[in-house]
Amino acid sequence: MADIKRLIDQLEEQRILSKEEFLTLLTEIDDENRSYLRGRAKEVAEKQFGNRIYTRGLIEFTNYCKNDCYYCGIRRSNREVTRYRLTNEQILSCCKEGYELGFRTFVLQGGEDGSYSDADMVEIITMIKENYPDCALTLSIGEKSYDSYRKFYQAGADRYLLRHETANEEHYNKLHPENLRLANRKQCLLDLKKIGYQVGAGFMVGSPYQTNENIIEDLFFLKELSPEMIGIGPFLPHHQTPFAKEEKGSMELTLILISILRLMLPAALIPATTALGTIHPNGREEGILSGANVVMPNLSPTSVRKNYELYDNKICTGDEAAECRFCLDRRMRKIGYELTVDRGDYNEKENELCTM
Ligand code: SAH
Repeated sequence: MADIKRLIDQLEEQRILSKEEFLTLLTEIDDENRSYLRGRAKEVAEKQFGNRIYTRGLIEFTNYCKNDCYYCGIRRSNREVTRYRLTNEQILSCCKEGYELGFRTFVLQGGEDGSYSDADMVEIITMIKENYPDCALTLSIGEKSYDSYRKFYQAGADRYLLRHETANEEHYNKLHPENLRLANRKQCLLDLKKIGYQVGAGFMVGSPYQTNENIIEDLFFLKELSPEMIGIGPFLPHHQTPFAKEEKGSMELTLILISILRLMLPAALIPATTALGTIHPNGREEGILSGANVVMPNLSPTSVRKNYELYDNKICTGDEAAECRFCLDRRMRKIGYELTVDRGDYNEKENELCTM
């Protein structure tokens, strides 16, 4: 029997393990060591952030998408989706409502909607930053050219979320059609970093064909990229995709990976994702208790929420923004945390402090 506890301590000290050690950890961890791992990760997160949870207001501004990712409910080939785009006025009113509720970060997420030119995006970014100069703006609109990313950054975008989805090329090709290449996605992440964004990468846990070896590649990829933000959540099937009949991911494994990532990258901003809240009623609380430090409630108008269904049974699609905020506030208080009114930027200093 490998000494799993020793491996966890080693991970906390060295912030990395070898491939073999990660494999041992993932395959041999038992309930007792699981709670030890979780406790270590929770403590590291608390050292960084106290009991404060950062919030991001998610605005799903378009569900048009030119891509056809096999897992995603708003993929191009899904003809049953009612497609929508929010007007600039609608986007701004989401921000207004969000600001009043205490959000200081807005995340503009969408499908890869070809109808927005760079100039259109720059207009939206400028509009939001002019009205809310004290807020951070995060984009999550997929793969673009270096030049486009640069324009958005110059217009005021601060952060960019682009999950790498899987760091293994063979696996990537099982989740995406041929026109989507892992090399390109990785290049996008490097471009975003170079331009100066706070960057978020990440992957789905339990996506079809994923192996433990793939997951370990994801861990090494994330360690090397060292993104400011890391989003992971369980894969959940959507009934109108090629993966409709595939097994969903595991909450337990997602939580283990959140803890491992917290120990690897102590200062990273790690959300307890909506997918985690969907797979289990207390998934987001469990995520926080496993080392996550961010929640991302939805600010999209209730009228369009059901149309941004990346997977089946997505939670909170019927709620108003305020309800989502209050609900999460309540949930966090219950487990000893509180939502903060703060941009919640990445803070490297905290990282350094922690190494002492
Ligand atoms: N178009 C943007 C935003 C994608 S949606 C982009 O390309 O980055 C945000 C994330 O939701 C994706 O990166 C993916 O990891 C996740 N997602 C999509 N479908 C999912 C599913 N069926 N189950 C779980 N997560 C999913």
